[in-house]
Amino acid sequence: MIIVLKPDAKKEQIDHIVESIHEWGLEADVSHGSEQTIIGIIGDESLVRAKPLAAFPGVDNVMRVQKPYKRASIEFRTERTQIVIPPVRPGCREVVIGGNEVVVIAGPCSVEGREMLRNIGRHIQNSGAKILRAGAFKPRSSPYAFQGLGVKGIRYLADVRMELGIPIITEVMDTRDVELIAKFSDIVQVGARNMQNFSLLKVLGSIDKPVLLKRGLSNTIEELMMSAEYIMSSGNERVILCERGIRTFETYTRNTLDLSAVAVIKKESHLPVLLDPSHGTGHWDLVGPMSLAGVAVGADGLMIEVHHKPEEALSDGPQSLLPKTFDNVMHELKKVAVAVGRSIGN
Ligand code: PEP
Ligand code: MN
Repeated sequence: MIIVLKPDAKKEQIDHIVESIHEWGLEADVSHGSEQTIIGIIGDESLVRAKPLAAFPGVDNVMRVQKPYKRASIEFRTERTQIVIPPVRPGCREVVIGGNEVVVIAGPCSVEGREMLRNIGRHIQNSGAKILRAGAFKPRSSPYAFQGLGVKGIRYLADVRMELGIPIITEVMDTRDVELIAKFSDIVQVGARNMQNFSLLKVLGSIDKPVLLKRGLSNTIEELMMSAEYIMSSGNERVILCERGIRTFETYTRNTLDLSAVAVIKKESHLPVLLDPSHGTGHWDLVGPMSLAGVAVGADGLMIEVHHKPEEALSDGPQSLLPKTFDNVMHELKKVAVAVGRSIGN
C-alpha cells in the first residue's frame, strides 16, 4: 500500500500516519521528494485494508501495490536512487552511480598479482573507467580451477586502490568474508551464483557499503528484485542491480545477455542498473557492440573485463578486452552516451 501525501502535508501529519502504521504492526517507508512525500506500507496488507487511510489529514491518495517487492519498487520512491562512492583519498573525485554519467567499471576477472592489477588499473583509469574490478574470491565451476588469491588478493586491491586513487569492487562469496571485504572494498559484489544466497544477502543488509547484486544464471527479473529486497529490508538501501546474461538454449554465446532486463528494471525500480557484457557474451569481440547497446537502452553503468594478456589469464581470458581494445570501446561509447543525453569517461 502506498500513501501519497498532499504537497502541503505537515510533519505532524506525516508522523501521525507513521505512528498509526507502527501501531497496526506494520512498517512505514517514508520517501521525501522535492515535490511530494510518499509513505510505503510494508507487511501484511490485510491488516490495513479496513483502516480509513484516506481520512487521515494530509493524505492525497492511497494506492494498492501489486508487486511482491516494495523497497526496490519505483512506486515506493519519489526519485531515482543515486549511489555515491566517496573519494578514495583527498584530491580524488567521488563517483555517482545512477546519475547522468554512465559509470564504467573495468579490470581483470581475477586479481592475479599486484603488478598486473596496478598496470591494468592505471590503464583503465586513464581511459575513463571510474572503478576497478577484480575478484579475489572466485566462484569457479570446477574445484580444480584457479580459486583466486583470497586475502592476499584483497590486500593487492587495497594497495592499488590507494596508489591510483580509484575505488574498487570485488566479490564476496561467504558470510565469513563480508567484514573483511566491506572494510577494504568501495562496493561489495554478489555474484550470479549467490544471488539467492539469502543468508549472505541478509548479512549484506547490515554493512555500510553499497552492494552490486548480479542477476542469477537462471533467475527472473522479479527474483532479482526480491533479492535486492532482502538486502534493503535488512537495513542497506544502497543496492545496484546488474544484468550479466542468463542461461538459454543458445550456445553461440556463453550466456544470453538480456538487454530488455535493463529497460524493465528502469521501469520497475528506482535502483541503478548496470550491464556486464563480458560475462553476458563470453566473447571479447561481442563486448563492444553489447556495451553500445547497453548505454543506448539506459544502463547506468557497464562492467567490462580487461586483461593485458588474455591468452594467459587465470580466468575468463576469452571474454577479456586488451587494454587498447578497451580504449576503442570507450571512444565509441562516448558517441552513444552523447546521443542519449548522458556522459561517460573523462
Ligand atoms: C565476475 O564478475 O567475475 C563473475 C564471476 O561474474 P558472475 O557472477 O556474473 O558470473
Ligand atoms: Mn569473470
